[in-house]
Amino acid sequence: MSNAPVSCCDRRVADDPLLDSPDDPSDRLSDALVDLLLGGRCVGCARPGRVLCRPCDAGLPDRPHPAWPTPAPSGLVTPWALAPYDGVVRAMVVAHKEHRLLALRAPLGVLLARAAAATGAGEPVVLVPVPSRPASVRQRGYDPTHALTAHAALLLRATGWDVAVRRLLHSRPGVVDQAGLGAEARAANLAGSMCCPTSVLRRFATRHRRASLVVCDDVLTTGATAREAQRALEAVGLAVAGIATVAATRRRLPTARGGGPDRLSDPALSSQPPTD
Ligand SMILES: [Zn+2]
Repeated sequence: MSNAPVSCCDRRVADDPLLDSPDDPSDRLSDALVDLLLGGRCVGCARPGRVLCRPCDAGLPDRPHPAWPTPAPSGLVTPWALAPYDGVVRAMVVAHKEHRLLALRAPLGVLLARAAAATGAGEPVVLVPVPSRPASVRQRGYDPTHALTAHAALLLRATGWDVAVRRLLHSRPGVVDQAGLGAEARAANLAGSMCCPTSVLRRFATRHRRASLVVCDDVLTTGATAREAQRALEAVGLAVAGIATVAATRRRLPTARGGGPDRLSDPALSSQPPTD
């Protein structure tokens, strides 16, 4: 099949194969029954029932956009995202990551699959999740980024893509939680924090010599994480075709006079690459 941005990214229709969620239990139970049995609420609107009600699901974005952070890390390949990191999408990401609402993996996986397809990476494609901190994985008992990436690959394969997921990147010790850190602090925290172990690279080279790599994450903030993942892959001779994320944060830019923030930059809705 073509490796151009595929039709599944260009529209959201009832027979869109990316919308078939193979393991979504909400399709098997009515909202009322889910609420009765589990006391569930939609993370988007608090409607009783499934964790993402049909109206909120139907309102999810379906068009990926280049999502350049401002400022963008030097050398960053084009990042793609489906939405600004707010509203329903933000609620979904937080609930999936922090509260292990695993039913959200399916709709979030759809968004990530659309972003990955939009990178234009030539097949075969290997999706590379950014590594979570081992302490976070132990604490959560779950690796949300890998889970989303694996689900995105599952959906893309169902539409005919030659795509695999490989954990090429490992985290080095010493990285602290990024939450609350500014752009410079994030970059410093992450510098040299990822690596591709020789044994992993050897297995990859044997099985995926011609593959295009797409780095996957749930949220793009300053771009520091994506850039570090790209650096670590390039350091072992692997080229990165693109960055795919579910959402990108809106960032306030300082005024030209050096004052406080005065306008919103919406990287998920802007396609302007960095000029530096
Ligand atoms: Zn809802």
